[in-house]
Amino acid sequence: MGKNVHVIDRFAPSPTGPLHVGNLRTAVIAWLCAHQQDGELLLRFEDLDRANSKPEHEVRQVNELAQLGITFGSNVIRQSERFDLYREIVEGLRQQDLVYPCYCTRREILESTQAPHGPAIEGAYAGTCRNLSARDRSEREQSGRPPAWRLRTNNEEYLVDDVIAGPTPTVIDDMVLLRNDGVPAYNLAVVVDDAAQGVTQIVRGDDLLLGTGRHIHLQKLLGYPTPQYVHVPLVVGPDQERLAKRHGAVTLEDLGQRGIGTQEFLGELARSIGSVVERLKDVADLLDDFNLDRLPRSPWTIPSHWQTDHHDN
Ligand code: GLU
Repeated sequence: MGKNVHVIDRFAPSPTGPLHVGNLRTAVIAWLCAHQQDGELLLRFEDLDRANSKPEHEVRQVNELAQLGITFGSNVIRQSERFDLYREIVEGLRQQDLVYPCYCTRREILESTQAPHGPAIEGAYAGTCRNLSARDRSEREQSGRPPAWRLRTNNEEYLVDDVIAGPTPTVIDDMVLLRNDGVPAYNLAVVVDDAAQGVTQIVRGDDLLLGTGRHIHLQKLLGYPTPQYVHVPLVVGPDQERLAKRHGAVTLEDLGQRGIGTQEFLGELARSIGSVVERLKDVADLLDDFNLDRLPRSPWTIPSHWQTDHHDN
């Protein structure tokens, strides 16, 4: 970031359960990035999933973060309170003929996935409903199945200038903006909210790296600035798969039950991000030593004594 830019980072969990080690590690890195640059870290609850998002999970997540010394300003936003805004934006795009109704089922989409001609995103949409004839469209309308609304694109390519991964080419697709149950899509909400919160730097898991071209495209379309991206390599189990419950102790509660307290947890996290500070009380003790250049560029495997079926002796 250039000098004199007020840095704003954000942490954007979905309140659908306790935070796992991967989320916590990302939050620690985001907090460090923000505070090392005299910036701030904002909190946003991505609770688009109305069935599984719960206020009690929000409270729990805030407490878990506070346990590590991560706190936020009071200007927390919740995506569930912003559906009207997202829908208005889609309506504006509809008036410019930039979105179209899509009647495809999940199955049809899976079956017609484009043969990628570049680093396309998983499940990229082949554009089946993009140019339906008036007749096909009315046939589909009559089926009674409500449509999702997709953005009309030309499968543009974007180079994501990621701080960790380096320049990364991506190809976009006609992403869903409004799902067929009326719920706004993550790709839209994330872009709208990052702009609304004035976010200048985004630290998040690198499973979202190849989807970032979609966000850059939407930012340009909606006249928003593109923040700096820092995609953090994932936390994985011993099988190198994305961290999951079956791998062992993956939440602060699980770790506590194995006698691993906050200090020890933070010590392991510190090592995992290339820091060597001993006897950490909280995340602030890492501020002086933290350096993004030392963050390993490959996934981090949780320590063996956190894993399932580990026997100390
Ligand atoms: N809500 C997403 C998650 O919990 C994060 C999305 C983002 O950071 O852009 O994984």
